[in-house]
Amino acid sequence: MKREFAVIGLGRFGGSVCEELSLEGMKVLAIDKNEHKVNEFKNIASHAVIADSTDEGVLKELGIKNMDHVIVAIGDNIEASILTTVILDDLGVEKITVKAQSDYHAKILHKIGANQVVHPERDMGKRIAHSIISSNILDYLELSDDYSMVEVAASKKMLGKTLIDLNIRAKFGCNVVAIKNGKDINVSPTADYKINFEDTLIVIGADEDISKFEKHYVID
Ligand code: ATP
Repeated sequence: MKREFAVIGLGRFGGSVCEELSLEGMKVLAIDKNEHKVNEFKNIASHAVIADSTDEGVLKELGIKNMDHVIVAIGDNIEASILTTVILDDLGVEKITVKAQSDYHAKILHKIGANQVVHPERDMGKRIAHSIISSNILDYLELSDDYSMVEVAASKKMLGKTLIDLNIRAKFGCNVVAIKNGKDINVSPTADYKINFEDTLIVIGADEDISKFEKHYVID
């Protein structure tokens, strides 16, 4: 059976989530209190309705508790975002993802029942900063407050060396969990793996260890 989603708040972030889910063929209920926003999504989402998500009765009427996953993308109005999350949790919605405006907002959202909290502006800022530091840093993903994953293109310093030669785990405390080359992916490469031209290393570790690894091997 098709999974059913609801997106509350159709700003740039919520609108983009709604559009992408719809393009992927998912059933999406788009909700916003602003009529113009709702009209924009009438032909994109399966249903688009004008509603204030801080009104529990309205959310009940919309059958929100039957949704598999609800995404709350109300940005600036933190009070409305918190209240909406509490109501969704009270109604027993199975999975709730909420966009946070700040770290404090994120902490509150976790405490009141959000299963997943996203912070797209902050995360994108970090990713872009890392890609600006070096063109070899292809992607950067925060796994928790202290741990991250980085995708780096093999630098000149790495070419022809084995993982044992590079000694990344002993030197910096982070782990090469996979190596990609085009469509091939080598998960958990062995210590004698020799780095080739156009390899991409996927490295996981504590932020400060990743930073040391980047300074030593990735940043020219
Ligand atoms: P973005 O950066 O993604 O555009 P934003 O952080 O600027 O988002 P806002 O513009 O504050 O987010 O809000 C996103 C949408 O949420 C708006 O279209 C707004 O009408 C809608 N919205 C705000 N409060 C509610 C509410 N209580 N019920 C339904 N929709 C709401």
